[in-house]
Amino acid sequence: MERSAEAVWKNCLSFIEDNITPQAFTTWFLPIKALKLQGKAITVQVPSKFTYEWLEAHYIKLLKSAITKELGEDAKLVYSIVMENTYGNTEPQTLKIPSTNRAPIQNPYVSMPVEIGGVEGIRNPFVIPGLKKVHVESQLNPNYTFDNYIEGDCNRLARSAGYAVANKPGGTSFNPLLIYGGVGLGKTHLAHSIGIEIKDRYPEKTVLYVSAERFTQQFIDSIRNNTKNDFVHFYQMIDVLIMDDVQSFSGKEKTQDVFFEIFNHLHQSGKQVVLTSDRAPVDLQGMEQRLLSRFKWGLSADLQKPDLETRIAILRKKLYIDGIEMPEDVVEYLAYSIHSSVRELEGALISLLAQSSLNKKKITVELAKQMIDKFVKNTSREISIDYIQKVVCDYFDMPTELLKSKTRKREIVQARQLTMFFAKQLTKSSLATIGAQCGNKDHATVLHACRTVNNLSETDKRFRTYVDELRKKLTLA
Ligand code: ADP
Ligand code: MG
Repeated sequence: MERSAEAVWKNCLSFIEDNITPQAFTTWFLPIKALKLQGKAITVQVPSKFTYEWLEAHYIKLLKSAITKELGEDAKLVYSIVMENTYGNTEPQTLKIPSTNRAPIQNPYVSMPVEIGGVEGIRNPFVIPGLKKVHVESQLNPNYTFDNYIEGDCNRLARSAGYAVANKPGGTSFNPLLIYGGVGLGKTHLAHSIGIEIKDRYPEKTVLYVSAERFTQQFIDSIRNNTKNDFVHFYQMIDVLIMDDVQSFSGKEKTQDVFFEIFNHLHQSGKQVVLTSDRAPVDLQGMEQRLLSRFKWGLSADLQKPDLETRIAILRKKLYIDGIEMPEDVVEYLAYSIHSSVRELEGALISLLAQSSLNKKKITVELAKQMIDKFVKNTSREISIDYIQKVVCDYFDMPTELLKSKTRKREIVQARQLTMFFAKQLTKSSLATIGAQCGNKDHATVLHACRTVNNLSETDKRFRTYVDELRKKLTLA
């Protein structure tokens, strides 16, 4: 019954494909080739060291699940990496899989007669056989720490409230703490940070992160299996309950009822509850009034879209965590171009890294531009006035603040006029908006600037070069 490496890997791939986005699958897994199978060790070839590191950092759990499923408990994965830049040396190098991930965050053992739901991943069976005790895994993502959560104006209140809660779970007036904000703005990350911080400070506390959707599913299962009491008891013994995306309780009356019961119990016993929602409490339709009023007992803190500085800081942090170097102008280009959400920003960064690694291309602003055009959907594709200001100022080697100042020095006036000219050409902003952003000028000044630039580029050769070079930089045409 000999199986080939390809056959095993093919099954692994189809398992993996079911568990991640198509884009991630195509980017990271399709380029992998199965090389050989020796007993329970499968060797796969990855296209670059970067891919290997990325897989290790982000997909280790999934890979383990897939391979264990195919080859059994003590299955091993060995990477063979095609080394970059080793001239004349095509012999692939082999590295053994190291166990990089921090251990899952454990809770103390607690008495519990039945299994509640299943646990994702492969590390730990929920039920310890024989003991009839349940081991609650916190389900916390060890990467989502406070340390990794960049602070900015957009999240200051929520972050510091979260931190206060983590210091004294159940002991502040922030109970429940409700974090709300649009998609991809960092609710889930912040919620995990609170849980992780609590586990670090109070290892004896039982912390549980669960999405409202999963909770609903477990509840439905418990009804079907006639174990609703166990379900309720299980949740009532949690010390810190973190419930993500409670907006999904909308319209689900039975689930809301059972959550209400659990919530009251926890709250009365001084346990901490942390909730997240993609909309403000007032906008939560289909939510029972009594539940809504409970949500308002504590603190509601919102997350806003991050400003430019925060976006840059977030990108730098991600790069730092993954040990990747990237030219500063590319980091800034990404941060300037993508403002919709942190998730989009991260997605763009990942696509860019993948593009550069797979096609062995240097990471440049140009590559970033192509990538954003091709891969990033639904983000505002328009060049921003901010970005134009930055490119123009970099070009003339002057600080952007000068553009907005009142000064009438020739070079600065010129840079300001060029900025206005390109803002008019390349954005959909109105003359008034452009003027307002370029030192509080009115629309007539912007019109005048456009005319001046047109005239000058016809009569002044050097000026014409400026315009051409700047246009190139801005549009990368
Ligand atoms: P939400 O739950 O609001 O949809 P997530 O918490 O899943 O958003 O965040 C999306 C991604 O953005 C995550 O990878 C998260 O780590 C990252 N992220 C969001 N906010 C920040 C921040 N302030 N600092 C660092 N990373 C962030
Ligand atoms: Mg989320």
